[in-house]
Amino acid sequence: MYKDVLLHVGGKWRAATGGRTIDVVNPATEEVIGKLAHASREDLDEALDHAAKGFAVWRKMPAYERSKLLRKAAEMLRARAEDIARLLTMEQGKPLAESRAEIAGSADVIEWFAEEGRRAYGRVIPARSPGVYQLSLREPVGVVAGFTPWNFPMSQAVRKISAALAAGCSFILKGPEETPAACAELVRAYVDAGIPAGVVQLVFGVPAEISEYLIPHPVVRKISFTGSTAVGKHLAALAGLHMKRVTMELGGHAPALVFNDADLDVAVNVLAANKFRNAGQVCIAPTRLLVQDGVYEPFVRKFVAKAEALKLGDGQADGTTMGPLANGRRVAAMESFVADAVGKGAKLRTGGQRAGNNGYFFQPTVLTDIPANARVLHEEPFGPLALILPFSTFDEAVAEANRLEYGLAAYAFTSSNTTATAVGAAIEAGMVGINHHGLALTETPFGGLKDSGYGSEGGAEGLEPYLVTKFVSQASL
Ligand code: NAD
Repeated sequence: MYKDVLLHVGGKWRAATGGRTIDVVNPATEEVIGKLAHASREDLDEALDHAAKGFAVWRKMPAYERSKLLRKAAEMLRARAEDIARLLTMEQGKPLAESRAEIAGSADVIEWFAEEGRRAYGRVIPARSPGVYQLSLREPVGVVAGFTPWNFPMSQAVRKISAALAAGCSFILKGPEETPAACAELVRAYVDAGIPAGVVQLVFGVPAEISEYLIPHPVVRKISFTGSTAVGKHLAALAGLHMKRVTMELGGHAPALVFNDADLDVAVNVLAANKFRNAGQVCIAPTRLLVQDGVYEPFVRKFVAKAEALKLGDGQADGTTMGPLANGRRVAAMESFVADAVGKGAKLRTGGQRAGNNGYFFQPTVLTDIPANARVLHEEPFGPLALILPFSTFDEAVAEANRLEYGLAAYAFTSSNTTATAVGAAIEAGMVGINHHGLALTETPFGGLKDSGYGSEGGAEGLEPYLVTKFVSQASL
């Protein structure tokens, strides 16, 4: 059922020049399920040439017409959702229900930007003299190069491509090599909807080789990356050297503050669901669960019970609530974080081990009594590790929440409006969810502060990074 994945260059689906391929592995079985075309330098040059031509055509198409094609792409994605969900689960591991939700959400994102593109308003600025019109115009930035990861192969790509296309840009996507098929199906939806050749193209290969070629290339005007902070800093520096605009959606280490007056069941349910969704491979997953001393023990007990109730298994099997990790690197990372923390004195309340002999399964894991020098309190775990830490005062909790250089998501649970407002103001994060999850919706901004990056995806803010401002001052003769 899993078909080999091709490049999409210049309006054609095709193998790489030279015929190189990369194996795709099912993380639930470790079996090779397909092959992926590995772009050569010639393929990238061809894509760049077509991207420039595609931009010239697309930017001239009225926003109204672009919107119609994007809406059609959303419909196509919905019509094909069930088949794509199976591909996504096979290559990435997440349970089918999560794959379906990712695809449905992606169709919503396309529709959202189809509408936002029609509202890329400029301004008319009052002039100092009669007969002068001062126009501030919003124009597409140009050819965009996007780099997206394997944790949400479709939803990480759809936000970038849809916003760029709605603004009138063309787009070259370097998709995730480990999970390429769902991402290719997304591109297929735009293409089959009738979006002209060269406007959206897809390549795969060695990430560093592709980014180091595309970012400095004069055809490319804008870079958008989602991935780790370390890689993001490297790519942002390269883009800076060549004066390219950049959006960076990077890592997180989200704190969640649970106060004594919280509804404990709501806090446990929301935090456990979002900690273990996609096996914890989510940049906004709650990771440092800071719990006030009055409710600490019952919180730990209830949270551990939730972790132990998860059904670990192949994402395609009925009843699975947590799939494998997406690759072997994450299993090794989890083992190393747990060994380091436990070796330094942390208590393992549940999990902590690889599960089974086959597939990249790792148990949902809860650690408490974690010493300050444990690595996992400083580095993003990006996996199913929950760290529960006690606190006494509001100031202590906020200091811990803001301690790291990450600033992506944060959460708080309290029945006091005063505390809720104070947390919202004091936390250094790009997104704060209070008494519910509430983040990463189509119509709301998504983005981080500090080392978690800059720029926003989603919401009305999501179109901004793909537009530039041109000022025209026109006097009538
Ligand atoms: P990694 O840091 O090597 O790669 C992360 C992502 O960046 C991958 O998609 C990869 O293809 C891409 N990448 C790496 N080097 C690149 C380069 N030079 N040019 C362009 N793209 C490049 O590590 P990994 O093992 O794939 O993932 C592990 C870490 O990445 C996690 O710990 C997590 O912090 C981060 N990550 C974050 C997100 C997110 O949603 N923000 C998603 C996936 C991974």
